[in-house]
Order: sequence, then C-alpha cells, then structure tokens
Amino acid sequence: MSFLARHLGPDAAETRTMLETVGAADLDDLVARAVPRGIVADAPLRLPAPMSEHEALTALRRIAAKNRVMTQMIGQGYAETVTPPVLRRNILENPAWYTSYTPYQPEISQGRLEALLTFQNAVMDLTGLDLANASLLDESSAVAEAVLMMRRANRRSTSDRVLVDARTLPQTLAVLRGRCRAVGVELVVADLTAELPEGEFFGVVLAHVGVDGDVAELAPRVEQARAAGALVTATTDLLALTLLRSPGEQDVDIAVGSAQRFGVPLFFGGPHAAFIACRKGFERNLPGRLVGVSTDSSGRPAYRLALQTREQHIRREKATSNICTAQALLAVVAGAYAAYHGPDGLRAIAERVHGLAARLATGLAAAGTTVVHEHFFDTVLAQVPGRADAVVAAAAERGINLRRVDADRVSVSLGEPHDERDVDAVLAAFGAAAPEQDAPEGAWALPGALLRTDGYLAHPVFNTHRSETAMMRWLRGLADKDLALDRTMIPLGSCTMKLNAAAEMEPISWPELASIHPLAPEDQTLGWQELIGQLETWLTEITGYAAVSVQPNAGSQGELAGLLAIRRYHLSRGDRQRKTILIPSSAHGTNAASAVLADLKVVVVATAADGSVDMADLRERIAQTGDELAGIMITYPSTHGVFEEQVTEVCAAVHEAGGQVYVDGANLNALMGLARPGRFGGDVSHLNLHKTFCIPHGGGGPGVGPVAVAEHLVPFLPEDPAAAAADPEAEAFPVSQARWGSAGVLPISWMYIAMTGGEGLTESSRTAILAANYVSARLADVFPTLYTGPGGFVAHECILDLRPLTKASGVTAEDVCKRLIDYGFHAPTLAFPVAGTLMVEPTESENLAELDRFVDAMRAIHAEMTAVAEGEVAVEDSVLRHAPHTAEVLTADDWDRAYPRSLAAYPLPELRLGKYWSPVGRVENAAGDRNLVCSCPPIEAFAAAERAEREEALEQEAAR
Ligand SMILES: *Cc1c(COP(=O)(O)O)cnc(C)c1O
Repeated sequence: MSFLARHLGPDAAETRTMLETVGAADLDDLVARAVPRGIVADAPLRLPAPMSEHEALTALRRIAAKNRVMTQMIGQGYAETVTPPVLRRNILENPAWYTSYTPYQPEISQGRLEALLTFQNAVMDLTGLDLANASLLDESSAVAEAVLMMRRANRRSTSDRVLVDARTLPQTLAVLRGRCRAVGVELVVADLTAELPEGEFFGVVLAHVGVDGDVAELAPRVEQARAAGALVTATTDLLALTLLRSPGEQDVDIAVGSAQRFGVPLFFGGPHAAFIACRKGFERNLPGRLVGVSTDSSGRPAYRLALQTREQHIRREKATSNICTAQALLAVVAGAYAAYHGPDGLRAIAERVHGLAARLATGLAAAGTTVVHEHFFDTVLAQVPGRADAVVAAAAERGINLRRVDADRVSVSLGEPHDERDVDAVLAAFGAAAPEQDAPEGAWALPGALLRTDGYLAHPVFNTHRSETAMMRWLRGLADKDLALDRTMIPLGSCTMKLNAAAEMEPISWPELASIHPLAPEDQTLGWQELIGQLETWLTEITGYAAVSVQPNAGSQGELAGLLAIRRYHLSRGDRQRKTILIPSSAHGTNAASAVLADLKVVVVATAADGSVDMADLRERIAQTGDELAGIMITYPSTHGVFEEQVTEVCAAVHEAGGQVYVDGANLNALMGLARPGRFGGDVSHLNLHKTFCIPHGGGGPGVGPVAVAEHLVPFLPEDPAAAAADPEAEAFPVSQARWGSAGVLPISWMYIAMTGGEGLTESSRTAILAANYVSARLADVFPTLYTGPGGFVAHECILDLRPLTKASGVTAEDVCKRLIDYGFHAPTLAFPVAGTLMVEPTESENLAELDRFVDAMRAIHAEMTAVAEGEVAVEDSVLRHAPHTAEVLTADDWDRAYPRSLAAYPLPELRLGKYWSPVGRVENAAGDRNLVCSCPPIEAFAAAERAEREEALEQEAAR
C-alpha cells in the first residue's frame, strides 16, 4: 500500500459515499466547481515521484550521512545535553504528547497544562522571579520580546533607547538590531562590565553569562540602571543558575534565555524552548502563553491558560506581541528534565560541567596558555595568539568542534555528556598536557558574590519522579488526562490537525540530524544543507513563488519576515510613506500584531454579507490611503472557509495602487496542487509547516513558518544571523537566532512531500475539501454553514452557525464545546472568526467512520439543544450547561440533576465501549485571572478543596 493511502482517511469506497452526499460526480468535479477558475493552477506540481516509507527513510538516511557528528563544544547559546531516554520515548516520540493542540480547552488539557506549569515553575525558581511563561520561540527573539516589554512597561521613561551588553550572544544582537530598527528603538551596544554609559535608556539588557563564558555580578549594574530610570533584563543560563546567584535576587525585572540544555538536542539550531520570567506587576505585558491555576465547577484546582483576553487574538493591533505557536513540546521536555533530575541532580550536573571547565583551564594555564576570564561556568576562553585556526583544526581532527572567536582566541564550552577524556583531547589540541588529576580543590572557584545561597525546586513535582518507573507513570498519567490526535479527530478550523505519520517523525532523533551544532563548519553539515535546499525548492514549486526561507520558527514570525520584506521593498524604492496595511476583519489575530511589529499602520477592511472582502469598502480604503498604501494582508482561502471568487480582483486593485499583496498561507491545505498564491496575485506568503506539512502541533509548538516571496522581494528575505552579526552596519533583519530556524523538525515535512509527491499533495488537498464539504452537508439541516463559495461549496473548513439555536435555547457555542468532551471530542475552533459559531476543519486524514462519529455527536447535541429551546428543561439545569461531566460527579451518592446520569455519560451507545473521562469539570475562566497563580499549587491546595467540599456536605446534611 502506498504511503498516500495511509495518509488519507477515506478509501475509494468511502470517498464515493462522501461525494454522493455532497452532490459531486467525482473529486475533479468537486474541485472544478469549488475552486474559482481564475486561480486554478495551469500545470500539475513538478515534484519527485512519491517514495514508500521505507524508500524515503533510506533516501533520508543517505542524506543525513553526509553530516558529520562531532563532539560539540562551540557553545554560543547551544550546549550538548543528554536527553534522558525515558523522556525521549515517553514525550518526544509519544503521539499522546506531540499530537496535542494548544491547551485552549482546559478540561481536556490538564496533563499538558500541568507539564507546562512544571516548566514555568522550574524557570521561576531558578531565575528567582515571580512569573514565567510557557515558552517563547528562541533566546534571541525572547530578548527582543523583553526589550519591547520594557519599553511598554516603563512609564517613567520617554526614551527610545535601549542599552545592551556587548557580551550578549552575537545572534541575539543581530536579531535585536533588526527588530529594534523596525520599530524605531535605538540600540546601544556597550561594554557594561564597569560603568553604564551616560544618557537615558528605557531599558538595559545585561548578560549574566557572556558569550565568552565570563560570569558577571548583576546587582551593581542593576542598581545603576534603576537609579537612571531604566528597567533591566538579564540573559541567563538555567543550568548555571543552580550554582549562581539568581537574577531575581539581584533585582532584575526580567530574565530570558534558552532551556535547550535541559534535555533538548541541538537539532541544528532548534526547536528549543526559550523562557522569559519577570517580577510581579509585569504579567499583563508578558508575551506568549501563561499557564495559571483556577477552579473547576466542583471548586477543585484546575489548570488553564491565564489572561487569555490579553492575547493577540483579541487585542489585534493593540497586541503586545505576535507570538501564537511557541515551543510547548520542548518546554514539556525541559520541565520533565528538571523533575527527573531534581534540584540535587541538576546541581550535580552543573558542578560536574564546571569541574570539567576548571580541569581544562588548569591544563591550559599549566601549559602557559592564557585563560582570559577568571570567573566562568562552563566556557573557557583561551588566548592563543595567531594559533586559533590551528587549534580549532587540531581539535576537529580529534572529532571535537571548538569556537574560533578570532585569529587569536578560541573558546571551549563543556556540557553534560562530556568527560575527562574529551577535556584531555581538547588540551592536546591546544598542545597542552592532560593534568595529572582533576583541578585542585578551589581552583577556578566562583567567588561568593556570584554564588547562590537560596534553595530552589522544592515543590514535590521536582522531588518525587526520581525512578524511571515513577517518571514513566507520571508522564503516562498526565497524557491520559488529555485528548490528542491519538484518540480523536481534532476538528479545529484554521489549525489543520492532520496525521503526523510515524515515518515522518522517526528521523528527527537520528544523531546525524539531531546532534549537529548550528554553527558547525559547513563541510560537516552537507546533509542538512541538501535536505533544507530540497525542501525549499519543493515549497517554492508548491507556492509558485521565486524563493522560500525556512528561517521563521512559527507562522507569526513568517508574517513578520514577510511584512518586513514589503516594508523594506518600499523603502528601497524611496517610498518611506508606504506604511499602511489593509487587513480584512476576519483575519487571524497574529496578522495585525505582526504588522505592528513591522511598524505598519493597520486599517481594517469590512466583510461583505457573503463573508468575502467587501470590494466597495476595499476600494474606498485604497482611495483614502493613497500613496501611503504598503499593501494588503489577506488569508486564502479566507478564514471564513471559502474560496473567494474575487481574490484576483483584490490583488489587482492593491497592485494598481502601488501596494504589495501578502497572502497568509496558513490555509494552504486547501490549495496544494490546485492553486498557487505566487501565481494568482501574491507577492509574499508564509506557510505553516506545523499545519499543512505534518509537523505535529506539540501542544503549542514547535512550528515552522517559512516565508515565500516573488522575485522582486528575494533580496529582502531574512538574513543569516551569523552574517548579520559579523556586519553590524548592514541593514539585516534575521527573525530567528539560527539560520534555518527550527531545522530539527524540517525532516518531517521533507518526508511528507517525499512520500506523497505532487499528486499526493494534490490528493491531500482535494480530500480535505471533500471532508469539509461532507461535514457541512451532513449538518446543513441542523447547524447550517455560515458562508459558502462558488457552487455552494466550502473550502477545507466550514463555519457552523449556532446562533439561531443559541438565541432560542440560551445554550452557547461554548456549552456545545464542553458537551462535545462528554462525547469524547476535542472542540472545533470557538468564536473565531465569527462569534457564536464553530469552525470545523476535518482534514484529509480522518476516515468516514470518524467523520460520521463527529456528525452523530453534533446531531445528538442539536437534539439536546432543541429540548432546551422547547422548554423541556431550563438551560441552567441542562446536560449542556453542566458539561463536561467527571466520573466523580456522576458517581456521587447524591444525584438531583434534571437528567439521568446515563445520558450525561453515554449519550451515544458506542461510548459504553470506550469513554474519555474529563479529569475536571468546567473550568472557571475569570476566577483564575482575578487571582493569578502561575506556579504549581502545593499539594495541600487539593486537600484543602476536598476538605471544604466535605465540610459543605456535612453542613448540608446538618441543615436537613
Ligand atoms: C495558525 C495561523 C497563524 C499563526 O501561526 P502560528 O504558527 O501559530 O504563529 C496565522 N494565520 C492563520 C490564518 C492561522 O491559521
């Protein structure tokens, strides 16, 4: 059987049944009637012929073998680490973890919410700060977020200047320069080891551990910065913090860094979880997602995403950040790594790494080589006048990569897997002898002022899962609380939760791919370059653009890169005033937020009654904007789930007025092989490889958001951060810290395309369109689809209109989502892009039985709603309002609800054979925000809730 037949849910017979239901003769007929003629691709995709799973894995192995696995001591923001096998097998290689969606629906996400809270707790404890979020995209962009956060939060300063430590990672300086330039922040890079320079700054960024390894005392600089009215961010290293005095104790406001060395492979640059932590009072400015603790309908503690209303989805152009997809899966690994090793284990790893660095420094000093910095954690900088290249080459001969700082200096970074033999091999490369024994006690010791005296990671979660059995069961227990693709379809519109095939996933942990340092010499990364080159070529062919960059590590970053390309194109032509971007009202929240970060002014275009862009309003806006028009940002097919007929007209109107057209390609799953945005009017698009191209969603990341551009925008694609770092004067705009962003997950998309080929991709899109139309047709009489396009068909998703029945019954779309949990389903997208509706995207990977199971559930829920509408039961007493039902509630000795228990638990007969039990009842949203708790609650909190409940029961008894 071909891979395609495994990837697609429906087989030939099922496809025929579905076609009959939607009223199409065959797939050709459906597509011909659903997709506007004006955009249809002129030729089939030219991609290599599809391979079987085995053939593709073999081909990829050959490519991967062209990389050279070395002992990596380059450092510079990436450390070698050991991924505990129990975490690799049970998290990274476990679909229960990697196929889950962002935990918006708290009731079916308690497991991953707890895991993310564990990550937050580890970051808070180690940084010594009050709050931490659930990950950011990479360290460099996290620093950029921190800078923008300081600018927003500093009400005392009117300055537009930020001061940054020259010891900051060069890739961070490169990303920061571009991001600051884009929004008019003046970046001053200076040596901050002595005094802060004169002048006013809204913020200061200090490097706790510099790129060359030296550890700085933060407190004196923080005091100076504070006196001058600035806020302070420190970049830091979580492992070092087990030994070093925390940034929080030294009074910094914000701490950022990478959690990569907590068990996440190098992955040739990413994906890795960055972290950001801050003091109390900054929570409403904190970018990304924040897990908090609230209560459920029984008054029990329950986890949820906190402060969701501040998110970009809602705040649009008032957004504080454009981060949507982050690095949830990698944060889960890092949190579990902290839980597995615990405070003592982490400290032991840190001491060992520091001991190896000290051994190296001792050996170098004994041989007369100058060790530049006295106070280091894991990185030693050696002065070797004129010999740097020779030393690096000698180390390479021994299978070790070092960092060539310049012609006279080499740095060496130690990590968890390294040992004395590795250190001695490095010494030999320097021409120094191995020391007779370890560094003498106290040699190269860090002084007291730099050392930590307070404890950390005292919570039971960091002190109970120490045996592998305990860890395995903890992870299993958490995963069992959640709904992911391994249990049910996830019909989330705009999210494309399709199959993440095992064959696609396997290669990501091959050492030939996973153990490569992003700054390794090019002759060691030939395999990676070939793989990425091929993937970029394929994506170019699929989108119809001239070139693609895979650097952006989420859709949001692709948007930023694409909008910056538009802005820079206009600037290059002297059109400084072209700063207004038109965005339809139905756009995804990240669109407007990204526009703000590219310093563009957002003007919203109205939606016509049929859900398409209102052409009259568009023409009016274009006329009003005049020569200030930078362009338009449309989504195609639109987030209304339709192929808009007039898209070519929209593009032409904008082009005529001198604007550029950005086509948000997150919905490319409707277009592959059928139409190409680069051919029907787009100048630039981003794609979401974590939607269309099978990278799993990971519970909220990783992602890859490649940016694709037409010929005239090619010069404005994001630059290599290393090249940008080497030339600070260049007008470069890298958006990720690594040249190829989250390279480590690109093999997934490579495998998908290699195994399906052009025809298979086309078949994927055609089947996805069929599935959406099937669901739409089967539910038409109960929940009509709000918008349809040509021929009365939808694209790859459909918006179900619940509003009339909500009006008649009082049962909300949210009630329906919660009730779907009782039926064992993850909810569709709620209230986006139209309030009171549900957006369903079934994808091509669900077979007919699963689609029907969903339809049956929705029809049964419709009947339940109708009963409320007809007055049989009050909405407050209905099974819908009380959903989801926990086993505990349903087995309680008291039962006085208006419906039988069996109806609550088993509304459809097949549920008796297999049932998902929500671990908590409906979670209160507001309570958690009023009373923000973003650390793991003490175990006593659960006991206290139980006690309160028991007391209440006793009181009730007494009253009776
Ligand atoms: C998912 C999505 C995005 C954002 O992508 P992220 O990777 O989450 O940043 C942008 N636009 C649309 C239409 C989307 O569906």
